[in-house]
Amino acid sequence: MNANLYALFASHFPEDKSSCCMETHDGRYYSWDDVERASAKMANLLAGLGLQPDARVAVQVEKSPEALILYLATIRAGYVYLPLNTAYRASEISYFIEDAEPEVVVCSPQNFGWVAQIAFKAGTKHVYTLDAPLEGRNSGSLLNRAMAYADTFRTVHKEPEDMAAILYTSGTTGRSKGAMLTHDNLSSNALVLKEAWHWQKNDVLLHTLPLFHVHGLFVASHGALLNGSKMIFLPKFDAAQVMRYLPRTTVFMGVPTYYVRLLQEPGLDQDACAGMRLFVSGSAPLLLDTFSEFTRRTGHTILERYGMSETTMQVSNPYTGKRKGGTVGLPLPGVDVRVVKADNAACAADEIGDIQVKGPNVFKGYWRMPEKTAEEFTADGYFRTGDVGRFDTDGYLSIVGRSKDLIITGGYNVYPKEIESFIDEMPGVVESAVIGVPHAEFGEAVTAVIVLKPGVQLSEAGVIATLKAGIANFKVPKRVHFAEELPRNTMGKVQKNVLRELYQ
Ligand code: AMP
Repeated sequence: MNANLYALFASHFPEDKSSCCMETHDGRYYSWDDVERASAKMANLLAGLGLQPDARVAVQVEKSPEALILYLATIRAGYVYLPLNTAYRASEISYFIEDAEPEVVVCSPQNFGWVAQIAFKAGTKHVYTLDAPLEGRNSGSLLNRAMAYADTFRTVHKEPEDMAAILYTSGTTGRSKGAMLTHDNLSSNALVLKEAWHWQKNDVLLHTLPLFHVHGLFVASHGALLNGSKMIFLPKFDAAQVMRYLPRTTVFMGVPTYYVRLLQEPGLDQDACAGMRLFVSGSAPLLLDTFSEFTRRTGHTILERYGMSETTMQVSNPYTGKRKGGTVGLPLPGVDVRVVKADNAACAADEIGDIQVKGPNVFKGYWRMPEKTAEEFTADGYFRTGDVGRFDTDGYLSIVGRSKDLIITGGYNVYPKEIESFIDEMPGVVESAVIGVPHAEFGEAVTAVIVLKPGVQLSEAGVIATLKAGIANFKVPKRVHFAEELPRNTMGKVQKNVLRELYQ
């Protein structure tokens, strides 16, 4: 049997392939036939490039139906999809391209100059834009080139353990790690979620999440593709626009920030959500206030789930049965989740410990980092998530913190270490500490505390402007504070908890 993820999707496409698979905000419709034919054309193009069987196709493009089709084409042709956050700048992109050595890079036309330069230097042979004309010509665009290819393609045979995608997760100690996900990781998780969330025949998914992250690319898109359900495919989340589409939708998935913003819409009430079946939240903690207020306003109980790039989804509140606010729910079928103490002994109910997970959803390791991979697995094969939590007496898991010091702002992960190293390179800076402080809209706001050399003057605005030029916007601190020194414990470690209290 062919374990290719695309083959699984194709076997669940609706009988009537002229029906709508994706509808856009500007009135475009893509039928299932369109998706099948366009992905075949692109797969034929990719297959004609003479790539290695495990060639990486790195993609940094704005969200569009064509971007999703490129993902499907890459999988279909048997290559490895590597999505990159659209906010990444040159220093970030260089690292990913040098590390992953993609044979194909697809980028936005406005970034073509610098991305192509980085890619060609790293040995990438093929650099394209996706669909937009390049300096008035669109000969370099992948879509334009794909037109010349046949619209049928025999989906490449893959084994379950073959790699389908690499998702880069920022590393706490500097380097980002590429999580290698297999066809089986993605297929098994999509099948489990189809059952767990009771996907139904007439579901319509309102898709507003980005396509470079596990939530939008896998959880949301896979759910609809595997169920043959239409997606209303919006380029980004916009609360007012979501309000307009809710009456035509049954399923919505978002990060907590989206729910905070929806609650600011005066029109959000039971009537507006009358046709809705399911609201899912994840990627960051959903505040109990948001959870309760959403129920009060709409009559719907948000279903919170927990996953990560390395494991896709592992824990979810139930579809039927109690959805408990402040918890991420119960382990999904087939996924083994445990909470353990430092010596790996299981914690009792309500006891806090490290969350570890094992199952068909767990990735096969970090790209070209065998030692790091070995470190992150226990002797008995559990992956150390880096999250800290506890099970309650009913078996519901709550996440209480992160041992890896990660900041999650608006659903995006920011690793303090990375931002600190950028700040520390600025002239006049002695050292810095980057922390997350509670923020009503973003969950956490990135905040920097900087110690300057004597006599040096730097302004908050100046530091922010310098960082904005170098790193993705979501990572740039919202506030910058200057301090005489950083608080340290006896081991010399910066006490970030003290800083968090001081600056929250
Ligand atoms: P990512 O790899 O970007 O998906 O980030 C994974 C991390 O996001 C996890 O290790 C958790 O720390 C966090 N996360 C995901 N879902 C939730 C949730 N529902 N509640 C709290 N944290 C979450």
